[in-house]
Amino acid sequence: MLICNERRAGARRMRWMTLGWLMLAQATGFAEPVATPYGEVSLPFELHQVPGAPVYYVIGLSGVPGAENEGHTSNAGFVVTDGGVVVFDALGTPALGYRLLQRIREVTDQPIERIVVSHYHADHIYGLQAFKEHAGDPPVWAQRQALGYVGGDRASQGEDAGRRLEQRREALFPWVNEQTWIVPPDRTFENDTNFEVGGIRFELRHMGPAHAPGDSVMLVKNYGVLFSGDVIYKGRVPFLDSPETDTRHWLEALRQLAQLDPQPRFVINGHGEPSDAIEEAVSVTRDYIEYVRSVMGEAVADFVPFDEAYRRADWSRYRDMPAFDASNRGNAYRIYLELEAESLGDS
Ligand SMILES: [Zn+2]
Repeated sequence: MLICNERRAGARRMRWMTLGWLMLAQATGFAEPVATPYGEVSLPFELHQVPGAPVYYVIGLSGVPGAENEGHTSNAGFVVTDGGVVVFDALGTPALGYRLLQRIREVTDQPIERIVVSHYHADHIYGLQAFKEHAGDPPVWAQRQALGYVGGDRASQGEDAGRRLEQRREALFPWVNEQTWIVPPDRTFENDTNFEVGGIRFELRHMGPAHAPGDSVMLVKNYGVLFSGDVIYKGRVPFLDSPETDTRHWLEALRQLAQLDPQPRFVINGHGEPSDAIEEAVSVTRDYIEYVRSVMGEAVADFVPFDEAYRRADWSRYRDMPAFDASNRGNAYRIYLELEAESLGDS
């Protein structure tokens, strides 16, 4: 009897725990945890499809990588062809890379033909490890400048790879830990590169230096889909705070993308929701960079010190955008330095 009562109480407790979990999941948007060889993922991790095309993508959460978003802050996608799957970017932890692989396997059992990486930054590459260890070691393609990232002891792509890995082992533990390693590119390209897989034509274009020196985009030509990487940000303040970010050239890259002929009918950016119009896709990033450049440009021209210029500037347009607190001041300072160097160069 006692055992029976205990069991009943246990079952009741379980029901309450399940109910509690569901309420929490509803409140936070988290789903039932899914086990991976790299730890559990609790995020919904929804797969979306481009209408009328065998092109799929996942959308990261806004904000900077941390335990609350399990490092899922960037976007990634893949194209299913008769000759294999072409993946674009690999997300910010091995566990998320594994979840992406699971999603691919729900759609197709075609082998992974290759993974193209938009640029070597932690939030787009740590998932590569799962593909190397669980998807038949597919080749990773990236623009040549990604090679400098792999040694991990110097700033490259605007990010010190070794220091970043240390930071993520803290901020994203247990998803990033001592077993996490940086997967180097197997194949590199210099400028524009065309390839075909299963009858689908792809074009890689090097757009950097912009957000990072190696920034590259991928066009899926048969379907008019553009994977833009971090040349296009939406839904958060872009990240410009690195010595290798080049905002002058970044604006030029955005102009080139806006003039693509034919215009892509669907744009999947590195962060934020996708767009079905290129002009709408580029506008957030372009307007932000132009605004910070104009405010800081006036300050540099008038010899106003940075702190004062930053304090005086009107940030009301961006203050409520995710990642404002984490990124805006650093971005503004970086642009101030960039414009100072430009003005010295001009004189
Ligand atoms: Zn990113």
